[in-house]
Amino acid sequence: MSIFDIAILTSGRNKIEGTHACQQHVPSKTDGGQTIQVPYYNAFGSVWEYHRAFLAKKIDWHSVLAGGCPLCGDQGCWRDLTPYYRWVTDLLPFREERIAIARFFCRKTRTTFSLLPVQLVPYRRYTADSIVFCLLLAVARGEGMSLFAIAEKLVEPESKVSGYLLRSWIDPVVKGLRRARPVLGGRVCIQAREVGGTGRLAELSSTCRSFGIRGPPDFCGIRELDQVIQSYARVTGHFLFGAPSQERICRAAR
Ligand SMILES: [Zn+2]
Repeated sequence: MSIFDIAILTSGRNKIEGTHACQQHVPSKTDGGQTIQVPYYNAFGSVWEYHRAFLAKKIDWHSVLAGGCPLCGDQGCWRDLTPYYRWVTDLLPFREERIAIARFFCRKTRTTFSLLPVQLVPYRRYTADSIVFCLLLAVARGEGMSLFAIAEKLVEPESKVSGYLLRSWIDPVVKGLRRARPVLGGRVCIQAREVGGTGRLAELSSTCRSFGIRGPPDFCGIRELDQVIQSYARVTGHFLFGAPSQERICRAAR
């Protein structure tokens, strides 16, 4: 049994703690407030398979929410709303499409929430594994190649990944992996020297390796990355990378 299995078995359904921690700052949808973004533990092979299942009405949302409303914990407080569509870009391989995101309304808190597949990153159109792949690509190329050159020469041109974008991904990914280490076990050992560098990219690479995720030239570990993302979301109720709408509201209110 891996640390990921243990994490999943010991997890319960988590209400969105951030929602309650700053409840006074979360306006209801009827007041023009934002939708609360809740992780959906997408067990399909990809977000594309999820999307096909969604359109075919093969996802039983009553079953998904059987553990209780993610906002108030009650049963039967919610009703479904018309889904919204958002753009998703995947680089492994390149694919860009809009996918459906389920939305619900909690009558008790009078708040709308959406279930965002955990393979996505709130407020980012690129999938989590695409982001990690690009950053590991930067590590593999080392200090001799700038992020701008990597984006221009090594990443699918149609993806529109730029050096600025690559740079903007480093902080949320490093912070996410740091959060994951204590949650998913003490198996991780930071050995930045192993990857021939120092700093956040080296830390990122080393942490990924400890989870079985290796960057180019032999990129592997998409399944392991998915397990890390899923396990973290199940244990904590939060997304591994990025900040959902409710956390942004809290920050803005401070
Ligand atoms: Zn509710």
